[in-house]
Amino acid sequence: MASSRMSVAERRRRERKKRLTALILSLFLPGLGQLATGRIGIGIAALILDAGFVLFPLTMIRIVVIQNELTNLTWLIWLLWGVTFGLYYFLVAYDAYRGTRLLTAPCRGDCPAEINVSDYVALVAAGRYAEALELIRERAPLAATLGRICPAPCENVCTRTRIEEPVAIRALKRSAGEHSGGESTNSQFTVKHPQKVAVVGAGASGLSCVYFLAKRGYSVDIFDREEQPGGLLSTTIPCFRLPREVLKEDIDFILSSSKGIRFTGGKILGENLDLGELEHSYDAVYLALGAAKPRPLMIEGEELKGVIPGLSFLRDVCTGAASSFSGHVAVLGGGNTAVDSARAALRLGAKKVTLFYRRTREHMPAYVGEVAEAEKEGVKIKFLAAPLRFEGKDRVERVRFGRMRLRDHGKGRRSELEAVEGEEWNEEVEAVIVAVGQEADYAVLKELTLASDIEGKIKVHSRHLRTNRRKVFAGGDMVRGPATVVEAVADGRKAAQAIDFFLRPRFLPRFFEHIADFDPDFGLERLEGAAWTEKKPVVKSRVKEQTNYKNPGLYVETICGLTGESDQEEAKRCLRCQRYNVGFAYRNGKQKGYLSLDER
Ligand SMILES: Cc1cc2nc3c(=O)[nH]c(=O)nc-3n(C[C@H](O)[C@H](O)[C@H](O)COP(=O)(O)OP(=O)(O)OC[C@H]3O[C@@H](n4cnc5c(N)ncnc54)[C@H](O)[C@@H]3O)c2cc1C
Ligand code: SF4
Repeated sequence: MASSRMSVAERRRRERKKRLTALILSLFLPGLGQLATGRIGIGIAALILDAGFVLFPLTMIRIVVIQNELTNLTWLIWLLWGVTFGLYYFLVAYDAYRGTRLLTAPCRGDCPAEINVSDYVALVAAGRYAEALELIRERAPLAATLGRICPAPCENVCTRTRIEEPVAIRALKRSAGEHSGGESTNSQFTVKHPQKVAVVGAGASGLSCVYFLAKRGYSVDIFDREEQPGGLLSTTIPCFRLPREVLKEDIDFILSSSKGIRFTGGKILGENLDLGELEHSYDAVYLALGAAKPRPLMIEGEELKGVIPGLSFLRDVCTGAASSFSGHVAVLGGGNTAVDSARAALRLGAKKVTLFYRRTREHMPAYVGEVAEAEKEGVKIKFLAAPLRFEGKDRVERVRFGRMRLRDHGKGRRSELEAVEGEEWNEEVEAVIVAVGQEADYAVLKELTLASDIEGKIKVHSRHLRTNRRKVFAGGDMVRGPATVVEAVADGRKAAQAIDFFLRPRFLPRFFEHIADFDPDFGLERLEGAAWTEKKPVVKSRVKEQTNYKNPGLYVETICGLTGESDQEEAKRCLRCQRYNVGFAYRNGKQKGYLSLDER
């Protein structure tokens, strides 16, 4: 196994050297590069073809000499030979540089940030945590944050789900950070280009864009209305899911990755920060203002004391300004804000917390895992309940609810909600938290004269995230509407790449970046006890993360991660689908001797 001390960047540099040597050798004699890099079969095949390409013109020359004339057919054959040889020559050279092309594992394919999941999981399996962390940060600098709160779309498609539970990919990401012992192998970036970029909004998307711009050698000024960076991650997501020291670790990592990064708080776009001036002073601007304006319910009594918007409530929870409860707290809504508010209300002393949602469980936009955690802690959920009005003298005392019914419109069409006549009831409450949705601040967006769609969302080019203003790019929740951290991170990276090509236009930029972007070989193929080294990997239950449901506290993490060396055990369940493509054997869980989850 190669030394575990080498950083991923160093490993990549060595690999690039090896591949360049292979390219030069193959340009000298097609196939030589493949032989030099140990790809014997393909190298020999290329040498045989080389011999064929040399013998053919020799034979042709003999025919021409015998016939003593060049017919049209001979010219055509020469032309065909030339074109075929040219194509072959460049393809073999390209192949020598690119090396073996592996499949994309499903986990990586479905990760919006395209994190190299299977390699970091294998590095954790080998106990090489610092390298695993570096590999994750190559695509997602908010690694520790994602290790806690990412909804992990990768786990839904993990090949293991065909026979058992998926690999605990998110928990392993967390493990990589926790066990790297503060040892980071990521390098410091230097400012290489004279152009300057401004980023407005220091949430997940803005911070990621800053990191990737710094990596590409730009100096970046980042502005935010808040005094501290982090966006929703620091102002709204409760500490029992995302401890602030974890977030701080990620933010410090980003802001200290280059001397060219400067954060300025207290700058509000549209008030003391002007987009026109930014365009004038900077070479490009990235806007990532998020979508954190609460939508009101617009029903009677919403102005009563004790009716609190969910986002404001969570903000107070994060700053420690929220007052405690002692009775029944009703939470209205079915998204993450509603579920987080309900869990926070329980921790603030509420005797009973009920979440009321207009539709049914399968329609809830909140993450399934988080809903399950809330229920374990004691939050009750009532479905098909719509608030009609809030009642009380000065303070809210009760909520009047109406029963709803779903009318099915058949396949592919969203079922419609209708009120059930005569079914109404009161719920006595101490407070109501309203979390029925959030959106971008459209009033500000309108003033910025950025083209928007019919719903008011900013219109950007899907590939390079550019708006109708030449120098202005936008991404994250502001463009997508309320989404996820990993999508915001992916937008930040995409925008950084687009801004780089905008500022320094290059010939066929994307194609050449694709060629230069390959995964180094970590030498992980033989690892004792790893599933991928077995011909018929055993069915092994997923290692469970430690939890703390019994004593929930506002500042105590509920999910505590994998303990001891159980992370290595869990990581060894991975099948390294990109290399072995064992997925085909697991299709529908039909491999002999295995039972799919539904069959067990
Ligand atoms: C309660 C809750 C729970 C969530 N839980 C999860 C979860 O578990 N997992 C997950 O993946 N996602 C979760 N999300 C979603 C996730 O937080 C967001 O998708 C993500 O943070 C969006 O990042 P962003 O950078 O686009 O926007 P934001 O984080 O909103 O950042 C926008 C930044 O722009 C600044 N800004 C806004 N307007 C201006 C202005 N005019 N001038 C200057 N600065 C401005 C803001 O201060 C802010 O710092 C949750 C969201 C909420 C509300
Ligand atoms: S088994 Fe491993 S490589 Fe395959 S999808 Fe799951 S995590 Fe990815």
